[in-house]
Amino acid sequence: MSIYQIQKIFDDVRGLNEMMVTSFLIEGKDKVLLLDTGMDIFNIKKQVLKMNKKKDLVVVNSHFHPDHSNGNNKFDKILIGEKDLPTFTTNDVYFKLVDDISSALYKQYPKTKLLKPVIKKLLITKEGKTEYVPLKDGDKIDLGKKEFIVKDFPGHTPGSITLLNKKEHYIMMGDACNMGTWMWTNPDCNLHDYADTARAYYKDVKRDGYKKMRGSHEPFTHKISFIKDYAAWIDKLTPEKAIFKANMPGAKSQFCIAVSPSIKHGVYTCFYFAHQCEKK
Ligand SMILES: [Zn+2]
Ligand SMILES: [Zn+2]
Repeated sequence: MSIYQIQKIFDDVRGLNEMMVTSFLIEGKDKVLLLDTGMDIFNIKKQVLKMNKKKDLVVVNSHFHPDHSNGNNKFDKILIGEKDLPTFTTNDVYFKLVDDISSALYKQYPKTKLLKPVIKKLLITKEGKTEYVPLKDGDKIDLGKKEFIVKDFPGHTPGSITLLNKKEHYIMMGDACNMGTWMWTNPDCNLHDYADTARAYYKDVKRDGYKKMRGSHEPFTHKISFIKDYAAWIDKLTPEKAIFKANMPGAKSQFCIAVSPSIKHGVYTCFYFAHQCEKK
């Protein structure tokens, strides 16, 4: 099945929308870059071949979450942030979380074992024969007259990376910082540390002249000032500010969702665990 909605994001950047997530196809003079491989509900390889027949393809994962990496096994080689380099064991932060929660869930509610095949298909990225190559902060990816600089933005996952296009002043943000950042998927990350990371990141990209950023679950492009404003909001989050709280089996503390409208940026949302708000 391949019924992607294709959307022009920036010059030579097209979004491939698959349900709730967007992968991106970015065209340079010599090469084409695919940022993320989606959920594998649609066939991303088929779609990419339809859109690019001639140029060499470089495939990058913004981070190792299944909605960005389930199509990886269709490609020979994937570049990924070094701290998200998968081991396909519970040493991977996300796999550990899925394992902790699903095991606790099956124990508490045995009937949920029926969900196992769905969890395996949607939440566990298949290993396949794909080669994984680590990207380091500052690495460059040259597509021919279009170059991206890799910049780490940890928090959402330990190895989340962003791709910076210096010439056209835009940032491909992945899930690192957006209107609804999932922090609960990296339970050891403290929200204040994340806010510090975001402020340092903002300082760098502002100094270097970047203007716009686009995330993987966003309906529109943000100005980079979103990063500092979101960091300030995150810094004030407490479990009490959540509009929704629930006990999650296998989790260290309560799962929380906080939402605040923002005149400047639309809305701020965060999905987090109560313990991630602790001041140190
Ligand atoms: Zn993610
Ligand atoms: Zn995502």
